Amino acid sequence: MSLSKAHRITMNDGNTIPVLGFGTYAPKSVPKSECEMATKVAIEVGFRHIDGAFRYENEKQVGQAIWAKIADGTVTREDIFYTGKLWSTHHRPELVRPALEETLKSLQFDYLDLFIIHWPVSFKPGKEKLPMDENHKIISDSVDLLDTWEAMENCKDAGLLKSIGVSNFNHRQLEMILSKTRLKYKPVCNQVECHPYLNQSKLLEFCKSKDILLVAYSALGSHREASWVDEKTPILLNDPVLGAIAKKYDRTPAQVALRYQIQRGVVVLAKSFNEKRIKENFQVFDFQLTSEDMEFIDSLNKNLRYLTFDHSKECTNYPFNDEY
Ligand code: NDP
Repeated sequence: MSLSKAHRITMNDGNTIPVLGFGTYAPKSVPKSECEMATKVAIEVGFRHIDGAFRYENEKQVGQAIWAKIADGTVTREDIFYTGKLWSTHHRPELVRPALEETLKSLQFDYLDLFIIHWPVSFKPGKEKLPMDENHKIISDSVDLLDTWEAMENCKDAGLLKSIGVSNFNHRQLEMILSKTRLKYKPVCNQVECHPYLNQSKLLEFCKSKDILLVAYSALGSHREASWVDEKTPILLNDPVLGAIAKKYDRTPAQVALRYQIQRGVVVLAKSFNEKRIKENFQVFDFQLTSEDMEFIDSLNKNLRYLTFDHSKECTNYPFNDEY
């Protein structure tokens, strides 16, 4: 991996991505203004990669924060790398461009740096982001993801975005896109849950062999929101091995967890809406873990997935039944 001074790496389409990104998801209970404040702080401390989504219902505030930092001269639009995501109610090919245009409008942008399919399961189109039937079961939609992908390619050709990728795809689903007849653009990345307890070594190896970047979300052990994450799961940042390694470098477990990903060629996201922790999370470019430390951290893997998205478990294309 060649890492430029701006901490960027080159993707398979020739565009570059900053290896450390700022996560913008927060539970509904968190006021949207906090996201705006945190995004401004993130840009001030050096984050240039912002990970957003239509699904997070805060793209307007994230856009306002970015434009405020452009207006005060901290950054230009070109300095910022913004990832948007195509939600599952918009998989039908005719809905892809309008969904992207809605995101662009919320952000007041004329292009996205990266647009990814958020989740491989398709849901019934409409206003409800999680359309449920009377038995509280997701109402899925029957869409060929290859048609969705073609619509994504068309958005790139139309100049509305620079790069396209996927999220939460297993290796079989990636292979399906890669072997599409008349594939125009390969996915540049697969954004998945990845941290020392779910290090995704097999998926990472597969992605590397196909020149697809793995982007790690919940790299700090996830938001642990009660409605999504089983509270009985162990807290990643309390892990004693991470703690011991952090102590050795006079760092924090969070910094070690982020540095671990960067050193194994993974682009990593970190969410915090707390000023001190946002700053802390950016201080990961001035120390180096030894190969022994990397092996210790690798050995923590227990295939523990915090976010299982059980709502989609019975749907076609649910990605987590495969080993990787
Ligand atoms: P992370 O794993 O990045 O961790 C967030 C939690 O850790 C928060 O509770 C945060 O609290 C806390 N935290 C942050 N920094 C520190 C620190 N230095 N020390 C101690 N605690 C810390 O969370 P997410 O699960 O939100 O994932 C990150 C991002 O990935 C999301 O925001 C989103 O952009 C993306 N994502 C994508 C998904 C997908 O399906 N593609 C799914 C899930 C996430 P506090 O804010 O109080 O600091």
